[in-house]
Amino acid sequence: MPKFYLNIVVDTPLYRIFDYLPAEQSSRSDYQTGQRVLVSFGKTQKIGVIVGIASSTVLKQKQLKPINQLLDSSPLLSAQDLKLFQWAADYYHHPIGEVFSQALPKQIRSGLSPSIKLRQLYSLSDTGLTLEQKQLKRSPRQSTLWHHLKVIGQPVDIDSFSSFDWDWRGPLKSMIEKNWVTISPEDVSTTTSTQKPGFQPNPAQQAAIDTVSEASKGFHVFLLDGVTGSGKTEVYLQLIQRVIDAGKQVLILLPEITLTPQLAHRFKQRLAAQMVTSHSGLNDTQRSQAWLRFKAGFANILLGTRSAVFTPMHKPGMIILDEEHDTSFKQQEGFRYSARDIAIMRARDYNIPIVLGTATPSLESLYNVQQNRFTHLVLPERTAGALKPDIRLIDCRNQTLNNHLSKPLLKAITKTLERGEQVILFVNRRGFAPVLMCHSCGWVGQCRRCDSRLVIHKQANLLRCHHCGVEHAIPNTCPSCQQAELFPLGLGTERVEETLGSLFPNIPLSRIDRDSTRKKDAMQSVIDKVHEGGAQILVGTQMLAKGHHFPNVTLVGIVDIDAGLFSCDFRASERMSQLITQVAGRAGREEKLGRVLIQTHHPEHPLLNTLIEHGYARFAKDALIERQQAQLPPYYYQALLRVNAINEQAVLTFLNDAKQSIASINTQAINILGPVPAPMLKRAGRFRYQLLIESAQRKPRHLFLKQLLPELQKLKSSRQVRWSIDIDPVDLF
Ligand code: ADP
Ligand code: ZN
Ligand code: ZN
Repeated sequence: MPKFYLNIVVDTPLYRIFDYLPAEQSSRSDYQTGQRVLVSFGKTQKIGVIVGIASSTVLKQKQLKPINQLLDSSPLLSAQDLKLFQWAADYYHHPIGEVFSQALPKQIRSGLSPSIKLRQLYSLSDTGLTLEQKQLKRSPRQSTLWHHLKVIGQPVDIDSFSSFDWDWRGPLKSMIEKNWVTISPEDVSTTTSTQKPGFQPNPAQQAAIDTVSEASKGFHVFLLDGVTGSGKTEVYLQLIQRVIDAGKQVLILLPEITLTPQLAHRFKQRLAAQMVTSHSGLNDTQRSQAWLRFKAGFANILLGTRSAVFTPMHKPGMIILDEEHDTSFKQQEGFRYSARDIAIMRARDYNIPIVLGTATPSLESLYNVQQNRFTHLVLPERTAGALKPDIRLIDCRNQTLNNHLSKPLLKAITKTLERGEQVILFVNRRGFAPVLMCHSCGWVGQCRRCDSRLVIHKQANLLRCHHCGVEHAIPNTCPSCQQAELFPLGLGTERVEETLGSLFPNIPLSRIDRDSTRKKDAMQSVIDKVHEGGAQILVGTQMLAKGHHFPNVTLVGIVDIDAGLFSCDFRASERMSQLITQVAGRAGREEKLGRVLIQTHHPEHPLLNTLIEHGYARFAKDALIERQQAQLPPYYYQALLRVNAINEQAVLTFLNDAKQSIASINTQAINILGPVPAPMLKRAGRFRYQLLIESAQRKPRHLFLKQLLPELQKLKSSRQVRWSIDIDPVDLF
C-alpha cells in the first residue's frame, strides 16, 4: 500500500487531473511537483506533469496504475509556473492538460531531456580581419560571409547564416581552413555592458523611466502611452539596461513575428546582453533551447511572441509588452488566452513591474487606468523635433476615381515623389479585388463552403476564399451565363499596386501583405529596400501599420476607410481608430512634415471627425462612455460559447439541450443572449451558432461557467458538434 498518490496533468481535452501510483521501488523523496512522468493513458502512453502529491485519493485501489517512468530528477517547472498554468486553466475554463501543452515547447512536452546545447560561435580571426577585398574577389560567397561577420563585429552562432538562401557551409568551411574564421565556444555568463550609448531622455521619457524604476521593487502595471515616434522603445531600452545591470531578466512580448528581428537587432546594437528569441518562425529545437536558456538564466532577455509569456523566468526583473492593444495577443483558437492578461498575472506572481506600451491604448487598459489599477505614463510628443502629421479627409462623393484612387490623392503622391520622398498606401484587403462579378447576369464568385465571396488574386491567377482557403482558377467566362463579361469589383493591395505601377512606371514600388511576405525573410528584404530608397511607393495591409520605422515616408494614403465605419462588431470603431492612428504614425518621422490623406464617402462621420480633430485619446474617452451606456466591455464581462457542425440541426439540438442545462443553474447576475447564428453562419462547410454570456462582474460569470461546462460535456448531443468557450472574446465571429 503506497502512502501517497501523484496528481498528474495529462494532455487531454478533459477538465480534470489524474491520480497515479508512484513507480514500484520508488520512494516519496523521489517525487516533487513540476517533474515530468510517462504514464499509461487509455491505450497509449503520455507525458504528464506532477502537480500535486496527495495522501489520499477518491479512486479505488484497483482503478489506480503506477506511473511508467519518472523523467526528471528535479522539477522542470516551479511551483510558481504550476500555479500560473492552473490559474489560466481555471480562468479560461480550459482543460488543464491542453493549457500545459500550449505553455510548454513541443520538445519539452514530448519528454526530451532538458539540456542546453552550448553553441559554437564564429568570428573573423585576426588574419580574417585584415583581409583585403582583392583576396576575396574570386569567391563572392566567402566575400559575403566575410562582410556579414565584419558588420556584426562579434561572434555569431550558426543561426546567423540561415538568412542566406544559398549553401554557406562550404564557403564557411574553407574560411575556417584558411584560418580566416575562428570557432569558439559560447560564453554563457550574462554580464553585460552598454554597447552604444542611448539618447539623453527628454523630460517625458525621463519621468516614465523614473516612475517605473522607483516602483521596480514590486508588482505594478504601467501603461506607457506614447504616439508613434515618441521614444517608447528608447524608454524600454533604458529600463532594460537598469534591470539587467541589477542582474535580473526581462521578458519582452511583441504581437508579431515580423517585428522580432528588427527589435532584436536594435537591442543587440545597444545592449551587450544575452538575448534569446521565441516565435513561430523558429524550429522546435530553437524554441525549446530558448525556453531552457531563459529558464536557466543563461539569457537575460527573452524577446518573443504570444506563447513566450509562459516561459519561466530565472531571475524575474520586468515584463514589457509592446503594442498592448494588438489583438494578436489573444489566441483565437483552442486555448483562447490573452497573453496580455496572463503577462499581468505573471508579473503579479513574480512581484515585478510590467510595462504595457502602445500609441493607441485598448479601451480595457484605459479603463484600468481610470480605475487606478494601471499607472498612466504619457509621452505626448514625437522626439527630436519630428512634427505631428497633418491628417485630412478626401471626400470621394461624386468624384471620378481612377481604380478607387481620387485626384487629390494622386496629386499628393505625384508631389511627394517629385520631392524624392516616399509614399505609403494603406489598403484594408489583400488580393486584387474582393468580388468577381458578371456584367451580363450579375453572377458573383461565392465560396461554396462559406458565406463569403471569393477574392480575386490576379498574380496567382486564382479566386481564393479568405475564410477556408479554397482556390479556383479564375474563369474566362461566366459560369452562369457563359458570357465573357466578368469584371473585378472593389479593391485590394494588388489592384492598387497595379494601378500605381501603370501611373508611375519609373517609380520602384513594393507591396507588403500576407501574400507578398510569405517567403522567409521576404518582409525584411522589403524593409531593407525601403530604407535604401529602392522602393518609393509602398502598398500594403495593416502589416504596414506596425512598428516599422521608415524615415523618408512623408505621405500616407488610406484608400478605403468606409468598410470599417459600418460593422456589426462593437469593437470596429476602436480598431479603426487604432489603425488610422498607427498608419498615420508612419508619416514624417524625422524633420519632415508628414501628411495623411483618408479617402471616404462619409466625411461627416462623427468618429472620423473626433479622431482627426481631437486625436485618439479623445476618441477613446468618448468610446468608453458609449461602452458604459451600452453595458459592453470593459464595463461588462463577456464569454462566448461557439458551436459548429456540418449538420445545422445538430447545432440547434445541442444548443437546445444547453438551454435546458442552463435552466437548472443559478443565473442571477448573468445575462444570456442567444443562441444566434454567427455573423458568418457557414464557414468551411460548418454551420456556426453562438451564445453570449454577460455579467457586470467576473465572479458570477466564473461560477456559472464552472457549473455549465461539465454539464455540456456530458450532453449526448455534444458529440455531434464542436463547441468552445471564449472568455473575454475580442471578436464575436
Ligand atoms: P516609438 O517606439 O515610440 O515609436 P522610438 O523609441 O522608436 O519611438 O523613437 C523614435 C525615434 O526617436 C528613433 O529614431 C529614436 O532613435 C529617436 N529617439 C528616441 N528617444 C530620443 C531622445 N531622447 N532624443 C533624441 N532622439 C530620440
Ligand atoms: Zn453571367
Ligand atoms: Zn470558403
